[in-house]
Amino acid sequence: MAECIFCKIVKGEIPSAKIYEDDETYAFLDIAPVNPGHTLVIPKHHTEKLGSLSDKQLGHLMHSVNTITKAVEKGTKADATNVTLNNGEAAGQVVKHVHFHIIPRFKGDGLKPWQHGKYEEGEMKKVQEKIGKFIA
Ligand code: 5GP
Ligand code: ZN
Repeated sequence: MAECIFCKIVKGEIPSAKIYEDDETYAFLDIAPVNPGHTLVIPKHHTEKLGSLSDKQLGHLMHSVNTITKAVEKGTKADATNVTLNNGEAAGQVVKHVHFHIIPRFKGDGLKPWQHGKYEEGEMKKVQEKIGKFIA
């Protein structure tokens, strides 16, 4: 199997427009931005989904995401940002290396990331219980 492209970016084997780097985190511009300044933040350690990271790794990653989000907003003069993660293939994850998207947003830019649905009568309570039982 070909090696992960984001691991290659971390190693410098594929060029990238680096925004930030420390011992555990690497951030770079997305090659196909939703808006200019769209940044990807990844752990250097390869893993596919968010749940595979330790609490310590996650804490470090989230701290970096927050710092970089502020820089992206200031640097692009964005009105806001979408900070998102496609956590698995069915959710749209194409590159199988955990990555947060930081997408600069501008009033009236027209992007509509989500469609909303609705619950049937009683369904919300059932769903609440199904999820809740897996949280200690
Ligand atoms: P996903 O759909 O997996 O959440 O997002 C993957 C992102 O990686 C996409 O937005 C895509 O444009 C970006 N991407 C894919 N290959 C490369 C690459 O080689 N370099 C950079 N900078 N971004 C990439
Ligand atoms: Zn990887």
